[in-house]
Amino acid sequence: MEVYLDNAATTKPCAEAVAAAVEAMTEKYGNPSSLHRVGLNAQLLVDDTRKALASAIGVESENIYFTSGATESNNLALRGASAAYGRKRKKIIISAVEHASVEETASDLERNGFEIVRIPPREDGRYYAADFVNACGDDTCLVSMMYINNETGYILPVKEAFSAIKRKFPDIITHTDCVQAFMKLPIKANVLCADLISLSGHKIHGGKGVGALYIRKGVRVLPVITGGKQEKGIRSGTESVPMIAAFGAAVKKFSQTITERYEKVSMLKAYLLGKLGSIDVVVINSPEDGSPYVVNISAEGKRSEIMLHFLESKEIYVSSGSACSKGQQSGVLGQFGIKDKRADSALRISMTAETTEEEIDIFCEALSDGIEKVRG
Ligand code: PMP
Repeated sequence: MEVYLDNAATTKPCAEAVAAAVEAMTEKYGNPSSLHRVGLNAQLLVDDTRKALASAIGVESENIYFTSGATESNNLALRGASAAYGRKRKKIIISAVEHASVEETASDLERNGFEIVRIPPREDGRYYAADFVNACGDDTCLVSMMYINNETGYILPVKEAFSAIKRKFPDIITHTDCVQAFMKLPIKANVLCADLISLSGHKIHGGKGVGALYIRKGVRVLPVITGGKQEKGIRSGTESVPMIAAFGAAVKKFSQTITERYEKVSMLKAYLLGKLGSIDVVVINSPEDGSPYVVNISAEGKRSEIMLHFLESKEIYVSSGSACSKGQQSGVLGQFGIKDKRADSALRISMTAETTEEEIDIFCEALSDGIEKVRG
């Protein structure tokens, strides 16, 4: 039996998403920019998903822009907003635990004259909104802070930080990467005081190669990809109608059950932690109050990759660190105070509401077996 516990890397598309993509590829195959009926039918699918996303985050649909995924959304947010607002205000503040698509983009802007301030967690491994607020000044154009960390499930105090920043510095643009939070926690742009929000289709059972950026009305973001002026010129290129349709189908399916699924996965996390508690060398790297969808652990002394492949041999799939970094350590665990040997043996287990206790039993049994059999 296949046990897939790598849902923070990607999720299996739901049946509704697959059906929507097939319909878009077989029946509604037009180019949304075409002026005839075939084009219009494709445009209607795109607009339908735009509405679903907008309603999910409590905004108007005209402020949702489709991209090829959250990597592109994050690039557009950082590059586009800094190009619009960064002529005089050269400081950009990010958390030190961002996904590579924010961190590497910020590093690139740093090489091009921006000052990047990376806020680490404090000694206690926790984030405090005040640290972001205190780093801001009249020289700051943008603050980017992810909502849920993809490696540990840590929930950053986005609302507290952004609301305080907006009170003190209304001109600073606020961006949050909500990839691991979308459809898992309720996200409302106004509640978070976020001007820009990045979303991805494939983490919510939609499909790979589609994402979106919410841009608050009146906030300027210069395009990164120029061309035929699709998406009101913010993101040129013919829209990926099948993947956008799939994204919309997944949002419609899951947006009504966010709380129920969070509770279900919280129970699964408690069950998993209970079982792991009886395995001697296992330590938990995720915070108790983190997202239940992501549980990072270390089987101390057993290297992640070796354990990952041992589990794979039993058809159990987890991540070492995060899949996005291709097995490379990103340094994020170190930022959270999880150092060296412990980080070298980190495994990320990421669940969905469809994960079962039986799957968790199979994983824990295989992990115990691996701890005995696998050499460090
Ligand atoms: N941000 C976070 C927090 C992520 O987990 C990921 C995916 N690993 C991304 C951004 C990138 O998303 P995409 O794969 O859609 O480009």
